[in-house]
Amino acid sequence: MATREDPVTALRGVGPQAAKALAKGGIATVGELLLHLPQRYEDRTRFVPLADIKIGQCCLARGQVVKVDAGYGRRRALTATLEEAGGFLTIRFFHYNAQQRQALRPGIWLRCFGEARVGPAGREMVHPEYRASSTRPDEPDAVLTPVYGTVGGITGVRLRRFIASALDDGAAQGGSNLPLAPFPALDDAIVFLHRPPPQTTPDELDAARTRIAQDELLAQHLLMKARQALRERLATRPLPRSQGLGRELRANLDFALTRAQQRVTAEVLNDLERNRPAMRLLQGDVGSGKTIVAAFAAIRAAEHGCQTAVMAPTEILVEQHYEQFSGWLTPLGIDVAAITGRLSAGERQARLDATQRGDALVVVGTHALFQSTVIFKSLALIIIDEQHRFGVHQRMMLRHKGRAPHQLIMTATPIPRTLTMALYADMDISVIDELPPQRKPVQTRVTPGARRGEVMERVGDWCRPGRQAYWVCTLIQESDALDSQAAEAVAVELQAALPHLKVGLAHGRLAPRERTDTMARFKAGDIDVLVATTVIEVGVDVPNASLMVIDNAERLGLAQLHQLRGRVGRGGQQSHCILLFEPPLSDIARKRLAVMRETNDGFAIAEKDLALRGPGDVLGTRQTGEETFRVADLMRDAHLMPRIIKLGEVLDPEAKATVLETWGGMAHASYVEV
Ligand code: ADP
Ligand code: MG
Repeated sequence: MATREDPVTALRGVGPQAAKALAKGGIATVGELLLHLPQRYEDRTRFVPLADIKIGQCCLARGQVVKVDAGYGRRRALTATLEEAGGFLTIRFFHYNAQQRQALRPGIWLRCFGEARVGPAGREMVHPEYRASSTRPDEPDAVLTPVYGTVGGITGVRLRRFIASALDDGAAQGGSNLPLAPFPALDDAIVFLHRPPPQTTPDELDAARTRIAQDELLAQHLLMKARQALRERLATRPLPRSQGLGRELRANLDFALTRAQQRVTAEVLNDLERNRPAMRLLQGDVGSGKTIVAAFAAIRAAEHGCQTAVMAPTEILVEQHYEQFSGWLTPLGIDVAAITGRLSAGERQARLDATQRGDALVVVGTHALFQSTVIFKSLALIIIDEQHRFGVHQRMMLRHKGRAPHQLIMTATPIPRTLTMALYADMDISVIDELPPQRKPVQTRVTPGARRGEVMERVGDWCRPGRQAYWVCTLIQESDALDSQAAEAVAVELQAALPHLKVGLAHGRLAPRERTDTMARFKAGDIDVLVATTVIEVGVDVPNASLMVIDNAERLGLAQLHQLRGRVGRGGQQSHCILLFEPPLSDIARKRLAVMRETNDGFAIAEKDLALRGPGDVLGTRQTGEETFRVADLMRDAHLMPRIIKLGEVLDPEAKATVLETWGGMAHASYVEV
């Protein structure tokens, strides 16, 4: 008798081989297996009289064999004609063995399931599932037949047997009991979905699925709350107001902070003054000015001699952050170091030493900062830029490098509120909902690739009076090598067409030093047109670049297009974006390009993106493999969050424990860690 907590091997018929395959699909326990829900159902709960079967109908039929024909013609096929109550049906097999053939004798009864189609002699089923008997079969199935998707190479048919075995053992029992009609007991909803009674409606199935999804979202919510509560109990070093270096930086800036930046900076600094480790998610559209907020936080830590780790997803961004931070902080006497891939072994060691000694107060790097060779003397603050690029696990690893450091996580992916509730309940949220003044929305045009020549001329004209442009190549998103080749070809083409301009090239296959030099020259205005792959996607900041051409824009997702376009429109001048596409456009690509043409609002774009692609892709969680749900679907279920949160508030500890047990230790294991 297997229970929910048992490994799948506790079930009849599940050996080590199958268990290994299931584990690949994230199923280790019987309980997890039971949460693998059917994709659809087949109805074998009633016999459809032969005379009533309709073409295209998938149904259960029965009849007595009146004629068998193993034709020896060109298309050799075994056929049998069934009869019952004046109705007829042919069943046809193109492949069969001698045994099958012998078993099909006139006089026997068949029960078969398949799809009816038009055959040479009326309605027929080709290769139906069938069972022979000597008497008239009169027991249809008691429940709908579940059809499962394969897991780790285990077919749906085998899974059906495994799951049936688990249900027969009563392994579904012991789930939560919550005031959620019409399925207060989780077990009932699980059993219902695997074995729906005859005549079950889609609405009833949906109610059962929703019940399970609510349980899962609740479990996730409770885990996050538990994690938050644990964090609240950790003590950390408070970083109160000190030397006023922040005020000094403010005076040095050549712009005034927006109101939103001021508000959010205050929120962040307020966190740092507490003796509890902060965990704040800072959302702000591309170009809203998140970096300066991070700089104020780093300054506060530095005023106390404490270190800040700034983590960015790409080397280019690391370089850029390094420049920005050092530009702002070095004049205040705060040492900033970048740890990047382009350092020589000696340089690298020198910076690691400075980090370990605590001389470098701000250390910028990619996920290389996670490596055990990077040792901080007094890490008090972790700033993670473009959070959606990193997994939760990576974040965790960095936390262990300090004593409960504060965390500030920045993202340009605007996340709708219900999703934030579902995924980030353990964080405080700040939003920069205002762009710096004088930003003019980027004007976007969608142009077929056939007009490339004209577009190149336009680039030439645009750059003549000292303006700059990006030309982004996106040949094959998945292939850095091919993308880089394409960029090289475009650079040659552009340079030939526009001999009066300086064309630069930045792509992932260049040596980091070369790429950084190019970026620096572009920033300094030595390069007029930067041909680049999507390596420039995140965060690159060259305000004088005001025209962007994106090749094969139809291949990119909305979030990526928005990020790319966010590279222009940063200075005071009117900026333009030209989205070149190669016809024919798929429906979804057409919609995406239309969205880009119509709006510059990151929030609106994220909502559209969500509708077109689903949250896993929007948040990038699909790639990092975290926050995946077994049953819940954020697209469908996120709107339930307010209710789920209320439910979590009134639940007694025992009920909470049951919910957590059902779902804990699974996909969200990372949330348990503090
Ligand atoms: P993001 O939020 O996309 O990370 P950045 O921090 O890179 O944006 O800022 C984009 C650009 O805007 C930078 O050049 C930055 O110096 C500038 N900037 C930031 N805040 C302001 C402001 N209040 N007024 C004018 N420019 C600003
Ligand atoms: Mg940024």
